[in-house]
Formats: sequence, C-alpha cells, structure tokens
Amino acid sequence: MAGLYIHIPFCKQACYYCDFFFSTRQDQRTAVVRAIASEIALEKNYLNGEALETIYFGGGTPSILLPEELDAILSAIHANFSIVESPEITLEGNPDDLTKEKLDYLLKAGVNRLSIGVQSFDDTILKSLNRAHDNRMARGCIDGAGNTGFKNISIDLIYGIPGRTDEDWEKDIHQAIGFAPQHISSYSLTIEEKTVFGKWTKQGKMKPVDDDVAARQLNILIDNLEREHYEQYEVSNFSKPGFQSRHNSNYWKNRIYLGVGPSAHSYNGQSRQYNLSNNSIYLRSIQQGKIPFTLETLSREDKINEYLLTTLRTSWGADLRVLREQFSLDILSENSDYIQDLQHKGYIVIEDSVLRLTRQGRFFADKIASDLFVVSDNLRS
Ligand code: SF4
Repeated sequence: MAGLYIHIPFCKQACYYCDFFFSTRQDQRTAVVRAIASEIALEKNYLNGEALETIYFGGGTPSILLPEELDAILSAIHANFSIVESPEITLEGNPDDLTKEKLDYLLKAGVNRLSIGVQSFDDTILKSLNRAHDNRMARGCIDGAGNTGFKNISIDLIYGIPGRTDEDWEKDIHQAIGFAPQHISSYSLTIEEKTVFGKWTKQGKMKPVDDDVAARQLNILIDNLEREHYEQYEVSNFSKPGFQSRHNSNYWKNRIYLGVGPSAHSYNGQSRQYNLSNNSIYLRSIQQGKIPFTLETLSREDKINEYLLTTLRTSWGADLRVLREQFSLDILSENSDYIQDLQHKGYIVIEDSVLRLTRQGRFFADKIASDLFVVSDNLRS
C-alpha cells in the first residue's frame, strides 16, 4: 500500500516564518490544478499498481481550493489509482477558509481527516506571525469541523516564538486541549533565511529563542498532553489512541509514495524525485507532457541514514534487525562506546532488538541520529 501527496502551492498571504513553496498570486491556480490532475495521470504507474492507503492535500493552503478545483484532482485520482477500502484522506486547512459550506463540501467529497493550521489562539501572536485568521475564526472553525461530522481533527501549534512566555504557551495548549482534538502537531519556530523573520534576524531586529527555551516549551507541551492521554508517537506529533497520522507514519516507516504538484517529492524505495518549485515552469512542462523533476538515486548509506533519522524520532524506534538484514550493518558494535554513553545518560533503551529514544532522548533525536550516520567509503578522508 502506498501514499499520495498533493502539493497546493497557493496561500492568501505569506506568514512571516514560512519557507514552504507557495505563491500568493491566485491567477494561475485553476491552471495549476489542471496540471496537477494531468501529472496524476502521467504518474499512474509510479507506485507499481499499489493501492492508495492515504491521500494527503498539503501546501501551501489546500483549503483555498474551490470545490470544482478539488473535484478535478479527486476525479484524476479515482481515474488513475485504486484506493483501499478505508483510506485516510487528509486536507490541511486554515481557519479563515473553513466555512460551514466548505466543511460540508469537504466531508461529502470524502475528506476524513482535517489538519487545521491554528498555530496559536492568541491574537497578538497570530498578528505577529502574519496569519490570516484570529482567535474567533480558529475557535469557530474547530467547533464547526466537529459539528459537521469530522471525527479526526488535528491542530497545529507553534512554540519557541520570541517574546512569548511559558505561561502564554501553556494557555495555547490548554485552549487546544479544550477542543479534545484527536491529534496535535507542534513544531518549534525555526528562523529560515528567505522569510521576513529571517530578514529581521539578519538586521538584528529579531532574536531567535535559545534552544533551551524551545526545549522547555516542548517539555511543557509533553507534560500537558501526557496528562490528557495523548501519545507522543513522533517528536512533534501527539495523538489519542488509534489516531496517529497514517500518511506521515508511512513516511517514517519507509513506505513508498507519490508526490504531485510543484515542489512535491516522491519515493519508490530506490530513488527520490523532486518536482521543481516554480509554478510557471511546472505549468509549461506539464502542458508538454513532461514532469519537471530532479532524480536522486539513494545509496546504501543514504538509505541507512534516512532510516535512522526518521525512525529515531518515532515511538516505535529503529529496528536493529532491519539494519542487519537489509543493510548488513551492526550499529551496536560499530558505535559501542557512544551507545553505552547514551544508555548511561538515559537517552535510549534497547529492547527486543529495537533501539528507542526515551522522552529525554527525543529532545536530541536529530543529533543522535546524525551521530550514528554511516559515511560512504568514497567520502572517508
Ligand atoms: S504557514 Fe501555511 S498558510 Fe502560512 S504561508 Fe506557509 S503554507 Fe501558507
């Protein structure tokens, strides 16, 4: 079984922190949607006939699409792929788009999971991030989604925002918990160079928070969510039992997927292909029947390192048998001193040949994974 990701590269306005690929020009939107439908047909054999278990509309802002635009993409999917009996169909949406009519339409169209970009319930913070919604819209949208009949709702929140206190952050968490969503995703604000915040930081007008502030706020989040019986199944993702994101979990379990739309990428187990991040070139190319992408064939080392980077962030951890059987790698003997040190610090546990990070260890997930990376013989000095 496989996944399909559809990148909708349009937003109403640019949030000051965001470096995803999107355009705020809406005049190309219908043409890009048509091109995405064509790309789906062009790529119908990419997944080798595997049925779609998950479909994920991400972006950008998929909730900006008109019903007829979303219908065009869904029709192309149904015409070109088989879909399992109970697929997970997620759509990322912003509170300012998700009106009662839009929610009704989405549910009827088959979307069964909503990922709502709330980020904060505090109007001052929302303004400072240049979000297009306010607290009232966020609350109305989450209530509206539940009343419409959505039974799988995820809320996105951001922590580590400069100038914001731990108390402010905890208020946001409590407001989110008050809606009892099935899932919460939360990322620390990172300052990306080509964003407004990146520019302000370079000019000295803004100072990113220290790592220990971000770690403390993540800790506050985990404490609060654990009390409400959410499981931290990935460093930044928390769910009620049975509501882990199937689509994202499949990325972390190394399953194959097709990504369509400008900037989307795809993985077939052997290589990754990256679509170009440019709407005009994407359009012209698809109109000529060609998908504009670059291809990266994955080496043994790439596959091992990706496996470590993704699985160590999850609650199911890295299976040492997979590393031994698929990659002839005995990670314990190759890193015995380092592994012992991590065990001693209480950052990892090894049980039944599975290496997992403890709650404490997850704060350093990416660092630990990169310390365990293998280097190609060609690159050794
Ligand atoms: S955060 Fe979301 S809505 Fe804001 S610019 Fe980025 S993709 Fe668009």
